[in-house]
Amino acid sequence: MADKGTDEVAADITDGAAKKGKSKLSTPPSRALPMRTWLVVLTVMISAFGLVGSSVAVHVLMREVLFSRVDEDLAMGIDTWARSVQLNRGSSVTPMPSEFCQITISPTGSIRTVNDQGSPPDFHQITELGTPVTIESTANSLEERDWRAIAIQGDDGTTTIVARSLEPEQQLMAGLGAIQAIIAAIVLILMGLASYYFVRRAMAPLREVESTALAIAEGDLDRRVPEWSRETEVGQLSYVLNKMLGELQDSLEEAQSKEEQMRRFVGDASHELRTPLTSLRGYTELYRQGATDDVDFVLTKIDDESKRMKLLVEDLLALTRAEGTRLSMKPVDLLELTLSVASSARAAFPGRAIEVDNSTAAIPVVSGDADRLHQVLLNLVVNGLKHGGEEATVHIELRYDEDNVIVVVADDGEGMSPEAAQHIFERFYRADTSRSRGSGGSGLGLAITKTLVEQHGGTISVVSEVGVGSVFTIVLPRLKEAELPSQADDE
Ligand code: ADP
Repeated sequence: MADKGTDEVAADITDGAAKKGKSKLSTPPSRALPMRTWLVVLTVMISAFGLVGSSVAVHVLMREVLFSRVDEDLAMGIDTWARSVQLNRGSSVTPMPSEFCQITISPTGSIRTVNDQGSPPDFHQITELGTPVTIESTANSLEERDWRAIAIQGDDGTTTIVARSLEPEQQLMAGLGAIQAIIAAIVLILMGLASYYFVRRAMAPLREVESTALAIAEGDLDRRVPEWSRETEVGQLSYVLNKMLGELQDSLEEAQSKEEQMRRFVGDASHELRTPLTSLRGYTELYRQGATDDVDFVLTKIDDESKRMKLLVEDLLALTRAEGTRLSMKPVDLLELTLSVASSARAAFPGRAIEVDNSTAAIPVVSGDADRLHQVLLNLVVNGLKHGGEEATVHIELRYDEDNVIVVVADDGEGMSPEAAQHIFERFYRADTSRSRGSGGSGLGLAITKTLVEQHGGTISVVSEVGVGSVFTIVLPRLKEAELPSQADDE
């Protein structure tokens, strides 16, 4: 047989999935970073952006405040001590604060610098009078230094420049910058660690889903994703996954059991066919080897075995048909059908007693295929006559309740043991092999009967006792009276 077994198909699927899973693991499709790394990097980057932004804002504001204070001091200096006559006259006693420097340029061009602190401001950089500006120290200074300076011109043409070193402010700003950098670094490290921790925690269920999926791909089909609250996304995902896995497993198991049933059926059928074939070969060999010259005997035996094989093949076909065909459902009067079955059986078994007892008050109608239901009942009646023994009588009783019509086919024949009664609806089962084979039964009759009854939405059961007889009960859904007129109109 070219078809693969379900087991092999399942193995192929799991193998394929496992291979796919492995190849995915060994050859990642791209160099993409995992989502958790991206989340951590993104969190740290956004935090860094915020920290840099706020540091720049603080820095700019701080600078503004400090410079405006210096500018106020300069303006005050210009208005107070810078105008001091003493200072201009070069007196050594000066009220000028020590951090300031004053440069006086007389109309004649003479320059006088007081307290240049070794790094005099380069006053040439001042382009506007009366406005404080930041300038550098002159090139020959001891150290490079920034000055804040303001220049005014007196009525006599003397230019007075008052400057203040920006060293204290710049030191303050540098200190502030360092503190900000340290705080930013600590905050970023903490943010990185915290986001790594929380992202890992949030992703933990997904990792479990992943490892479960991998385990399933590697063949552990019973594994399931742990259940989380359905309020969460992962909870919903795991619920849907588990549902899907359950359904997949069910259909796989169903396919496996159908495959198993089919295999058993083919095995049983071959076995059943082999028995008459072996007999056929046996008789032909017997004749060929000269063990008998009774041609009539050999031909009769061959004919018997061929009939048995024909019967078996016909029953196999009937079973396949019963399982595969769609019934043509119509309202069927079971009383009429039962009477017709009884008369068919009487014709086939002349002289045997077949009684029909109807305890229904109204017509017992079911929806069904009349030919198939005839086949079902006739099979039960013939079984009673055949397997019950020569003396057995068959009694058919018809009754109904609110929902069902019940047909009881009982015989007072040889009966069966309880275990035999349990198995008689299975294919090829025969309660008493020698007798049944002798009677030519294929062991398929009741399997076909059961299939047909179930196709009608009914059930069949048996109660039997050795030496007492067998009682078969068929329950079929009764066609409600309300449904009858329209059905009858159709006919
Ligand atoms: P078969 O073709 O052998 O009749 P069935 O499926 O109809 O196959 O029946 C299966 C077996 O059940 C029979 O071989 C027989 O042993 C047993 N059986 C069925 N009906 C009866 C009955 N009314 N009384 C005793 N045995 C029965």
